[in-house]
Amino acid sequence: MSSFVVQHNPHVLPAADRERLMADPGFGKVFSDHMAWAAWTPERGWHDRSIRPYGPLQLDPASAIFHYGQEVFEGLKAYRHADSSVWAFRPEMNAARMAASATRLALPPLSEGDFLDSIQALVETDRDWVPGGEEQSFYLRPFMIGVTPAMAVKPSRHVLYAVIGSPSSPYFEAGVRPVSIWLTRTYARAGAGGTGAAKCGGNYASSMAAQLEAESQGCDQVAFVDAGSPASVEELGGMNIMAVTRDGELHTPQLTGTILPGVTRASILDIAADHGLRVVERRIPVSSLLDDIDAGTVAELFACGTAAVITPISQLKDDSGVHRVGDGQAGPMTLELRQHLTDLQYGRRPDDRGWLR
Ligand code: PMP
Repeated sequence: MSSFVVQHNPHVLPAADRERLMADPGFGKVFSDHMAWAAWTPERGWHDRSIRPYGPLQLDPASAIFHYGQEVFEGLKAYRHADSSVWAFRPEMNAARMAASATRLALPPLSEGDFLDSIQALVETDRDWVPGGEEQSFYLRPFMIGVTPAMAVKPSRHVLYAVIGSPSSPYFEAGVRPVSIWLTRTYARAGAGGTGAAKCGGNYASSMAAQLEAESQGCDQVAFVDAGSPASVEELGGMNIMAVTRDGELHTPQLTGTILPGVTRASILDIAADHGLRVVERRIPVSSLLDDIDAGTVAELFACGTAAVITPISQLKDDSGVHRVGDGQAGPMTLELRQHLTDLQYGRRPDDRGWLR
């Protein structure tokens, strides 16, 4: 039995209003009636595990989160299947990643059991908020913040954990549309020993200026490179990156501690063999990637992450100009892998790997 005690929201949204919101919720804009909650102190450990009414938090303005950004978060989805049952995709991986992120930010890791219980209790309580439309999902956002009120750069002794849930439409409303990517040399996302492999808010705060640079270059999204010589491709602001070669290989940057170990990334590497692909995890120098794109050796390029699953990349742009991938359209292997993953998530193919919970 879940240790999360349910305190029902006395002011849940009337069903008619909920259904109106859920008809076209957008992504991450609408939130359900409840949130999962837990608090931590060194003396008590994790306590107050509960499901509470969703609502504003009252925090001391001196809380560590506001000054030193002591925060980590996660992102995962629950999917409604045709028989109306609701499933999360590999939530243990998010539990493990959140614990690793927490440790990096000197926050107390939450156990896998508590993480999974919090997700399950929230989804069960707000089950009616899980949409059932085409490629819709209930996006779950667990987060943890340090809230000790003190102007001192040291780990908080008061920590809060919460999970909010958001009925969501597909991330890109226009469907699977190829995106253009700007390779920034102005901004770096991570360095050796930094927080690149942690899912902490600061990484995203620092990516925003780079995203604006990408947009000023007429591109949809930004990609970061490492500090190596030659510089190698790392990842996008919120997605990992993969290349399909003409001779049937799937290349992706190896995990060196500076990129986020994506759940989608790991899942694609796992199913790649089913599609006749050989996986190659390595450093991918920007110059050789651009040459391979220009020569057609790299036939397809895509980005991957929970929010948008797999997004084809039509072109890379940097100071050397625009490098179009293939004919600029979504490649056949990109679409095949995307279909495989979404079929699994929505229960349209057998869960042969036991990834649904
Ligand atoms: N890289 C970054 C920087 C991200 O924010 C995300 C999204 N969490 C990913 C990669 C993809 O991770 P996942 O597949 O677990 O969503």
